[in-house]
Amino acid sequence: MRSAEIRKRWLKFFEERGHAVVPSASLIADDPTLLLVPAGMVPFKPYFLGQEKPPFQLATSIQKCVRTPDIDEVGKTTRHATFFQMCGNFSFGDYFKKEAITLAWELLTSPQDAGGYGMDPERLWITVFHEDSEAEAIWRDVVGVPPERIQRLGMGPNFWSMDVPGPCGPSSEICYDRGPEYGPEGGPAVNDERYIELWNLVFMQYERGEGTGKEDFEILGELPAKNIDTGLGLERLAMILQGVNNIFEIDTSRAVIDKATELTGVPYGADPKSDVSLRIVSDHMRASVMLIGDGVTPGNEGRSYVLRRILRRAIRNMRLLGSTGPVAKALLDTVLEIMGEQYHELLEDRARIEIVLLAEEAAFLKTLKTGTAILDETVTETKRRGSSVLSGDQAFMLHDTYGFPIDLTLEMAAEQGLQVDEGGFRQLMKQQRDRAKADARAKKAGHADLSAYREVADQGGAVEFTGYELLEDEAS
Ligand code: ATP
Ligand code: MG
Ligand code: MG
Ligand code: MG
Repeated sequence: MRSAEIRKRWLKFFEERGHAVVPSASLIADDPTLLLVPAGMVPFKPYFLGQEKPPFQLATSIQKCVRTPDIDEVGKTTRHATFFQMCGNFSFGDYFKKEAITLAWELLTSPQDAGGYGMDPERLWITVFHEDSEAEAIWRDVVGVPPERIQRLGMGPNFWSMDVPGPCGPSSEICYDRGPEYGPEGGPAVNDERYIELWNLVFMQYERGEGTGKEDFEILGELPAKNIDTGLGLERLAMILQGVNNIFEIDTSRAVIDKATELTGVPYGADPKSDVSLRIVSDHMRASVMLIGDGVTPGNEGRSYVLRRILRRAIRNMRLLGSTGPVAKALLDTVLEIMGEQYHELLEDRARIEIVLLAEEAAFLKTLKTGTAILDETVTETKRRGSSVLSGDQAFMLHDTYGFPIDLTLEMAAEQGLQVDEGGFRQLMKQQRDRAKADARAKKAGHADLSAYREVADQGGAVEFTGYELLEDEAS
């Protein structure tokens, strides 16, 4: 089943059951506590908190999401991307646990010719919060899931909250058993790559107060009304329904891998290491295009830095695969081909996206050229001294003089068996920032607009990229 069909069925199923269909919000969160939207519930947060009255009691959406904390997993696990789409259904004081559970089960398991996804019920496993006997009983007695396929887990996986004050509550997850070729049995509690987590049902009952992290906080009390928030990863469902090994091989991602192969000559499936790079390119190019589409521009702070890091990582992985020249234009065309069907606005915005993307690529290729030579010298020098740690000074010099983002220094040093004194680096960064703040002139340089990119892009090959410094303050 194609991703477009999965989307269609999702929205139709919930619309027919009285849910308002709400279009995806921008990736730029309208929420001061978040840089980017990591989950489908974010646009509905004021309703869940009782701060605003929702215009509907039931809603469904397919929300664009970016999760930067997952970046190091991308391409290594079969299921983590930085950009993905979360299908959700939401109840604001309307239905609660029983309906949320039975609706999810119905949609997943009803036959494809009846509008469902036709999944084999015997392959589905359930997790519940260990204190939530109510949810466990619904799965067992109402839905009829055998008790041996229901697992009780703790706070970490099965109690949901954002790391900040707000709604929270126990959750229950639906996982799909991909079979013994993906690892030993034992259920999602022991093996999260074989038993792929598909759908998270959050039963929002409580309001969370201050505290730290996901487990150590105070519960202020019950929410004004009990709510449902669910999220299913569209790409993960597509992976199962399309019978592919990972989310980078589904219909809306695989074409980018194939384009990268065409550009580098490295076939997919030839070698585990280059396969990781190909998958990173696929995800990161999709993420970059979606972020630029929503108005993010590359820079050194906040969400601008997220974009810069993701995009540069894509380009660097293309170079690890052997590309020597620019690749962003060709990859962009492929991303637009597969994502444009769902997101028409990307096609209308093509010219602007291309300008931003190509300017950043040009800047980065230039940075790489000088920076890599310097980094190699620094690494040799460090090793010659018998040390295995690149100093904070050196990392700072690479950043400050050659525009090497710290993440790149970390990655490239690690490839050569070296660590980096990151603490020392951060200290120097802070000193520099403090100096800049004290310097009134520095402020005036902080107004870059797209014309800076345009100029750079128009110059073509040999560019002197001045937008780098200009953009530095943009997102701060
Ligand atoms: P995992 O344990 O696999 O990292 P999660 O528990 O962090 O997933 P949730 O926060 O529960 O994920 O998000 C709801 C759903 O969104 C998940 O069940 C999954 O289908 C999907 N999802 C989460 N993170 C990603 C990701 N990085 N890439 C693709 N889909 C994701
Ligand atoms: Mg996760
Ligand atoms: Mg999980
Ligand atoms: Mg989860």
